[in-house]
This record gives sequence, structure tokens and C-alpha cells, in this order.
Amino acid sequence: MTDAASLPGRPRGLVTSGAATARAVNVLAPNPSAMTLDGTNTWLLSEPDADLAVVVDPGPLDEGHLRHVVDTAEKLGKRVALTLLTHGHPDHAEGAGRFAELTGTAVRALDPALRLGDEGLGEGDVVTVGGLELRVVPTPGHTSDSLSFHLPADRAVLTGDTILGRGTTMVAHPDGRLGAYLDSLRRLRSLTVDDGVRTVLPGHGPVLEDAQGAVDFYLAHRTSRLAQVEAAVLAGHRTAPEVVAHVYADVDRSLWPAAELSVRAQLEYLRERGAL
Ligand SMILES: [Zn+2]
Repeated sequence: MTDAASLPGRPRGLVTSGAATARAVNVLAPNPSAMTLDGTNTWLLSEPDADLAVVVDPGPLDEGHLRHVVDTAEKLGKRVALTLLTHGHPDHAEGAGRFAELTGTAVRALDPALRLGDEGLGEGDVVTVGGLELRVVPTPGHTSDSLSFHLPADRAVLTGDTILGRGTTMVAHPDGRLGAYLDSLRRLRSLTVDDGVRTVLPGHGPVLEDAQGAVDFYLAHRTSRLAQVEAAVLAGHRTAPEVVAHVYADVDRSLWPAAELSVRAQLEYLRERGAL
């Protein structure tokens, strides 16, 4: 889900439908909206010569989409062997149960309530399917259960809703926390600096070919929004809706409910640090 707080979209992204990197194919779900941009990116990942694939975020419960994901794998000569979730929001996870039925796969996620099968998913896990290696990077903040997946062979990271292909994301207060989110952005930044990650494969919107630039943009945006929220409070706007109306005045009102969650997360963050 996106944040109303978006600065104007940056032109650096490439719209992808199909192959994004050597090992990643995007199957776009038919659920476009102000909150989901073009729709949810369902990622089909595999080694080029392998016959087994892993799917990240089957997406909404849409039979046509879920079958299209299976068909796309088959056309590439592959069988889906495992399903992973970046987090539990329905636009990413609602179709997981049905997709698991269609493919006979387990579903692994951080949140035990989302899992099907015996295996969980979390810090330090390395998932291997058909020779493809994914390293699990917890990135809480958008939600408490948000995970990213580092795909070293493609110098890429799948970020779910932690970083989007356009605009910025929301911190879904109270489950999402701003302090955790900023820590997660710094963790992703270290993947770009220390581990050579170049490409962001986001949960919505186009692929980003400048991962470090994207992380820096997100960090700068959060810092700037936080300063705006703090200034609004100091100017006498006391409640979250008042702050939204002041800080997000130029943003479409359909996005104000999402903005209010991000504002609540920012107010909490400022209070915790004694700034308010
Ligand atoms: Zn989400």
C-alpha cells in the first residue's frame, strides 16, 4: 500500500511486466488502485536452467491471477515448489491459501497465522529452491511482519511494501512503527553498500535499477515528512486528522486515511523521543 505522502514519482523506474532480472519474472495482479499502484507484483523466481521456482506474494484472492501465475511458470518449463510472503496485507497474501492448493506448495511467512506447512521464515533463513538462493532480511515498519528477500545472484532485493517502485510507502500504525521502519531502510541501504545490491523488485510499481538511490530517497522523504509533522504540531495542529489536513493538503483525499496511519506512527515516534 502506498503512502499519500508521496513526493512526485521519480522517473528512474522501468515498468516491468515479465522478466525483470535473469531470475525474476513479474506477474502483475489485476488489482490496481491508488493504494496498490499498477497492482500487486507477484514474483516468480528461479535459476534460468532449473525446473523449480519459488513464488513471492501470490497476491489477492483472484482465481484468474493465481492460475495465470501457475501458467506463466509452466510456459517457462517450471513448477512452483514454494510460496513465500513479504507480509500479511491482503493484496499480497489473501490468495496464498488458494495458490497453495493449486500448486501443492507450502506457504512460508514470518507471521505463523499466514503459514501453511511446518516451516516458518525469519532472520538468518536462507531459502533454496532449484539452486536459487534467497536470503531473508526482516524489514519491519510498514507492518511488523514485513520481510525482504535478498537475491544475491541478481544483485537484487525483493522489498514487498517496504520500498515501492513509485512514490513512497505507508507505516501502517499501530502494527507498523516508524522507528523500526527507519532501521529497516538503513538495513536495506547496507545491502546496497556492503552486499552489492543494485536492483529493487518492489511489491508494487516498476523495478528500480538504482537501489541505493531509492533507499536514500526514502530516508530523505521520511526525514522531511517527520519535520513537517513536528512543525505542524508545534503550530497547534494537535490531532492526527488535523496534522494530515495540514501536511497532506496537496494530496488526494482518498489517500488521507492511509496518510493518517503514517501520521499516527510519526506522532508516536516523536513522542517516544521526547520531541513533543
Ligand atoms: Zn502492505
